[in-house]
Amino acid sequence: MQSLNRRHDVVVVGARAAGAATALLLARHGHDVVLVDRDEFPSDTLSTHQLARPGVVQLQRWGLLDAVLDSGAPAIRQVTFTAEGQSITRPVRDSAGVDLLLAPRRHILDTLVAEAAADAGVELRFGVTIDGVQIDQAGRATGVHGHNRAGAPVELKARFVVGADGLGSRIARAVGAEIIEDRGAWGAAQYAYYDRLPWDGIELIATDRALTGVFPTHDGAACIWICSPIADAHRARRRAASREDAFTSYLGLVAPELAERLQAGRRTSPVTGMLRAPNFIRRAHGPGWALVGDAGYHRDPVTGHGMSDAYRDAELLASALHVALRGDVDALSGYQEQRDRALRPVFELTVALAGYPPVAEFVALQKELGRTLDAEASELAAWPPLSSSYLAAV
Ligand SMILES: Cc1cc2nc3c(=O)[nH]c(=O)nc-3n(C[C@H](O)[C@H](O)[C@H](O)COP(=O)(O)OP(=O)(O)OC[C@H]3O[C@@H](n4cnc5c(N)ncnc54)[C@H](O)[C@@H]3O)c2cc1C
Repeated sequence: MQSLNRRHDVVVVGARAAGAATALLLARHGHDVVLVDRDEFPSDTLSTHQLARPGVVQLQRWGLLDAVLDSGAPAIRQVTFTAEGQSITRPVRDSAGVDLLLAPRRHILDTLVAEAAADAGVELRFGVTIDGVQIDQAGRATGVHGHNRAGAPVELKARFVVGADGLGSRIARAVGAEIIEDRGAWGAAQYAYYDRLPWDGIELIATDRALTGVFPTHDGAACIWICSPIADAHRARRRAASREDAFTSYLGLVAPELAERLQAGRRTSPVTGMLRAPNFIRRAHGPGWALVGDAGYHRDPVTGHGMSDAYRDAELLASALHVALRGDVDALSGYQEQRDRALRPVFELTVALAGYPPVAEFVALQKELGRTLDAEASELAAWPPLSSSYLAAV
């Protein structure tokens, strides 16, 4: 049995957007944290990867933005929005302390944040799958157990267990974290990478029952994606011989001008995606445990806000745990209240957009989303550097 006899302050399960950021901030607060993931890093995960302004603000506040830019993620300076045959290109405004957007590949971004956590003192354990949560007789989580790649058992004891293990969260299941709001599953998202073409910035193309886009990323490539109702994505796949054929002909239908441009480029990846994206909120804490990121709250990718949610809530949780570790038993209830309040505006817009209303209404919702993201980014930019005091202030 691989077990460190010492009891950590916190064990964080899942080392991507939510988990690595939570661990990083806890370590900067001075806590003893172990961060585990079944994956080895660098590795990709199922996701396109535009960071909305609030996510960029968080990287900036944590001192990681320059490292992401130095990794070769292109600074995105303009967004072109096309609907009903009309295109508008706008520069990315200088607001909330940032004047660019980003769409870094996840194998680079997630590794960079996990390494920053290690630099801050977090013990990183990759290739460790957690199978369950240890619960004491009083019903409090006291650690996790699992196994490493060789199949050897692993046991990690901690005062708090954080589930940052994504949509299928085993931690959520193990502690019985119930879904407190279920808004159904309406949308699908599919994507692939293309290179050998110039990309001027983010492109978004709204048509009847679809939002298609271009996210310029590392190595001169772009992530090309289509968000649509579930039924439409299935129908496109049923008609075609392969996922790739389905994606190409679906692009021709929903974004013909982009599809034509892509013929001069080269697809460099298989087509992948999520054909049923649920929208739900789970209870975020209980005795000795908390959930953060997709483990506690999932929304359709149509608003491209999952990483920004994770980065915001990682900071709320790290601040709450910092207080809880000093003995304040109510701190995690404060985390849940803050998370639920903070996620609400984008969650409502996401559910509305994932219903693919008529284009004019869809565009109006997109405009509202832009205003909501700006407001969220400004709020985050105003948080104190390590926001332990934020919890007390709200
Ligand atoms: C198709 C698609 C497109 C998207 N596009 C965007 C976008 O453009 N912008 C955006 O901001 N968001 C986007 N999202 C959402 C975004 O990917 C997620 O919200 C984000 O990754 C959540 O981060 P997380 O850390 O909570 O979970 P995840 O990124 O899912 O990470 C969970 C980690 O936990 C690990 N893990 C799971 N179970 C265990 C276990 N038992 N033991 C050990 N480790 C475990 C996994 O290996 C994984 O590394 C998209 C999602 C999808 C599906």
